[in-house]
Amino acid sequence: MSDIEAIYGSMVFNDAVMEDRLPSDTYAELSHTIKEGKPLNIELANAVAHAMKEWAIENGATHYTHWFQPLSGITSEKHDSFMEPVGDGRAITKFRGKELIQGEPDASSFPNGGLRATFEARGYTAWDPTSYAFIKDEVLCIPTAFCSYTGEALDKKTPLLRSMKAISDQANRVLEFFGEGGHHIITTVGSEQEYFLISEKDYARRQDLMLTGRTLFGAAPCKGQELEEHYFGAIRPTVNEYMKELDDELWKLGVAAKTKHNEVAPCQHELAPIFTNANRAIDENLLTMEKMKLLASHHGLVCLQHEKPFEGINGSGKHNNWSISYGKTNLLEPGESPADNLRFLVFLTCVIESVDEYQELLRMSVASAGNDHRLGANEAPPAIISIFLGDELGAIVEALINDRPYKSAERVAMDLGVDVLPNFLKDNTDRNRTSPFAFTGNKFEFRMPGSQVNLSDCNMILNTAMAKSLKSFADAMQGLEGADFEAAALKYIKQVLTDHQRIVFNGNGYGDEWPIEAERRGLANHKNTAEALPCFVDQKSIDLFAEFGILSEDEVRSRYEVKLDKYTKTLNIEANVMERMVRRNYIPAINAYATKIAKGITAVKEALPSADLADQEELLQRFLDGLKATNVAYNALKEEHAAAEAIEDSQEQANAYAAKVVPAMEALRAEVDALECITDHGYWPVPTYNDILFYV
Ligand code: ADP
Ligand code: MG
Repeated sequence: MSDIEAIYGSMVFNDAVMEDRLPSDTYAELSHTIKEGKPLNIELANAVAHAMKEWAIENGATHYTHWFQPLSGITSEKHDSFMEPVGDGRAITKFRGKELIQGEPDASSFPNGGLRATFEARGYTAWDPTSYAFIKDEVLCIPTAFCSYTGEALDKKTPLLRSMKAISDQANRVLEFFGEGGHHIITTVGSEQEYFLISEKDYARRQDLMLTGRTLFGAAPCKGQELEEHYFGAIRPTVNEYMKELDDELWKLGVAAKTKHNEVAPCQHELAPIFTNANRAIDENLLTMEKMKLLASHHGLVCLQHEKPFEGINGSGKHNNWSISYGKTNLLEPGESPADNLRFLVFLTCVIESVDEYQELLRMSVASAGNDHRLGANEAPPAIISIFLGDELGAIVEALINDRPYKSAERVAMDLGVDVLPNFLKDNTDRNRTSPFAFTGNKFEFRMPGSQVNLSDCNMILNTAMAKSLKSFADAMQGLEGADFEAAALKYIKQVLTDHQRIVFNGNGYGDEWPIEAERRGLANHKNTAEALPCFVDQKSIDLFAEFGILSEDEVRSRYEVKLDKYTKTLNIEANVMERMVRRNYIPAINAYATKIAKGITAVKEALPSADLADQEELLQRFLDGLKATNVAYNALKEEHAAAEAIEDSQEQANAYAAKVVPAMEALRAEVDALECITDHGYWPVPTYNDILFYV
């Protein structure tokens, strides 16, 4: 049993450690600089670096690294030791302020979408003091932003930080009208991480899992998730041991791992931490994902984080719970007093407006080859963005739009003056699981992100779009106060809600009627990544990012290229693996089994010339037909794959992958999967779904 209080945060250079270890004036100066977001002066950096090094060494560290998130979305690190030879054969340990605040990774091999030519490959990493440093595997990890020398962001963190500044500035302008400006406003994020655990032995026997993270073949198992026995079921011992070790490791790293449970699909699980500042929450999620993968090996397990490791059962997502707050005040909390209600309605209205205005960007931010298998597949929200408000809030919005008195759930008629808006309760929002963007009491839950995604992109977009809506409101209210302000604000709210009511949908997002209704409403429905990405470089998006200094046009274009590139590369690898597996695993196995049947037929004929061999012959014929069909599908895939690879334009190439290669992959898979079901298990070259999914 772990002593939570003793281990929690023990590997983090957090506020308590800083206060404890730094001289009080240094600590005060550092806190101030962090709050103001100002660069550190070198004396301060030297003092902090020294304290950090002493603390790290006491806690077993020998190296340090600037820990950053290049555009691949995963974290990167390069370890340097604290060791410094002194010239007489001995060494001391050193860590200078300049090493803390800036690093220079030779970064030519990170994706940059054409932003840097390789001859000017050097980017630099800069300390992000708003996320704590921590020790991981004897390395002091310093969260950093990663930029080029000409100042372009080359990472996921920089634009997120810029967007947090933008939303803070604009939210403060809005709060001024309520007499509460001047705060350090942050967005908060709590990410629920889903994952699969399977046995290492099965994993090692499947090249598709090892190389692509998902099964590219595999007939449906005899039983799937229909008995609903896994969701919240008792956690089996092997998995339990794994989860305990994971919790311990995360707690040491100050990750507030709170909830763990079995998920809907067999072998699927979830971990949810307690929310925190979005920047730190995303760092924590990346750490969580890393630990999840690494620790699995201690238990003979492999952690699959792909969005769709297995066809036919649920894939994995990562719900992004999001709110805006300062101090203890959550600005999406409906609140109790009338003034709070108006403030809440303003923020709510701005969320509705921003999500509607930039629905395509939000959809784009979660687009990936892996997530294409989830969205719209009756397990995750459709690829259409809509907002679920729940009965109570939905009714309030409707009443506001229609100038009707609002009737609360208790049927007490109310006038729509601000001072009588109901004090609705947290649990009053029923849980609509089919909505991609649902109000859940005092936050919104964005359910589209896939399990592998780095959440920086969607939060950066949410924050920026929200900053824009808040700005419009503040601009429109300029100079107003008191009753004038309240009247104008209500009028504004009514107008904006009217203009954007199409985005509100409280019905069943999985229903067949919804895409039709959504189209009627003019909502976007980008079914795959190739369709979803182009909006990133629309003038409207470029203008939005430019207005708030989040991304320059060059930065936007480079990010778009990186996303296209990742999509086509992923599919290229998947097609390669499929082709190889068909040639080297499946066709030989099917041939061998067909040959065995053929030999059996000959042997029986010899032994008993009068025997009725119709059934055996029919079976053999099925294999021969199946082999032929497999070959046809294989050749078709090869052809489409080669044609797609030859396309120069990256968007057109992505389109070809989506429209031609993916269907060809599915057709090939269908042939092989059909043969799997009639082939002797002993002949099948890889573990089947039945083998993999019900063992761990
Ligand atoms: P669910 O019912 O969706 O599984 P959970 O309670 O498991 O809900 O997870 C909800 C997540 O939302 C948790 O990570 C929680 O910390 C987070 N959360 C709660 N309040 C906020 C907030 N104000 N801002 C951001 N995230 C929040
Ligand atoms: Mg959830």
